[in-house]
Amino acid sequence: MTRIVTIANQKGGVGKTTSTVNIAASLALAGKRVLVIDLDPQGNASTALGAPHVEGTPGIYEALMGETTLAAVAVPCPDVANLWCVPATIDLAGAEIELVSQESREYRLNNVIQTYLSETSTESPVDFILIDCPPSLGLLTLNALVGAREVLLPIQCEYYALEGLSQLLRTVDMVKGHLNPELTVSAILLTMYDGRTRLAFQVADEVRNHFGARVIETVIPRAVRISEAPSYGQTVLTYDPSSAGALSYRQAAEEFALLTTVTNPA
Ligand code: ADP
Ligand code: MG
Repeated sequence: MTRIVTIANQKGGVGKTTSTVNIAASLALAGKRVLVIDLDPQGNASTALGAPHVEGTPGIYEALMGETTLAAVAVPCPDVANLWCVPATIDLAGAEIELVSQESREYRLNNVIQTYLSETSTESPVDFILIDCPPSLGLLTLNALVGAREVLLPIQCEYYALEGLSQLLRTVDMVKGHLNPELTVSAILLTMYDGRTRLAFQVADEVRNHFGARVIETVIPRAVRISEAPSYGQTVLTYDPSSAGALSYRQAAEEFALLTTVTNPA
């Protein structure tokens, strides 16, 4: 059974993309088959996974518009085996508006994913599909919430971290109630943790009190190597495998992978 996970938080710069690509690479390096869907017109996940995404490159936009399939536009990550990326180009920025007038607009990504899964079910299906969301609660994020079974919520350990969270959780509940009854927030990941500050500690503490066991125990430290990796078209897992950042993402991914047995017994 493929775990379909949306990485969402409508705040920008909280570590959605960084967590998507580094958890994806960690899982792939541990032997899982992983497909990343870049659903942000900025294409940052595509960059980090070495997937070309200049304007006009066929990717998730064309798939959502029914012009192609996920399998046709997924490209293998050059540095990591068993890892594929469906790129996003700036063309995707138009989708948010173009989809508004279209039929079953909330289900586009879900339909595309289900087609992909049924087409690949006879070969070896992927173990994980990770969807990297844009920083908004618009139609693209809505598609991601309808298309997934789980939400992984990255929270930056800084002031204002919890602001806007209730809006996101309300949206998840709304989607669960009306469009996708299977959806759950399966994991919270604390990112950009600066152990020298009291604030980071307080935020982490507050998040753990609120979300309990769903908070992944491993916290992701603020680490320069993590932020440098994308400019080399890489994740930190291949850019600097022995760095603290790489280690923490490997550990967090391992915990996240083990959640399978909790959230999806079968
Ligand atoms: P989002 O996708 O939520 O907008 P990003 O993953 O792009 O956020 O992260 C925002 C910025 O912070 C990026 O420049 C990224 O390289 C940097 N960053 C993310 N996580 C870390 C970290 N743990 N340590 C240092 N820099 C980080
Ligand atoms: Mg991003």
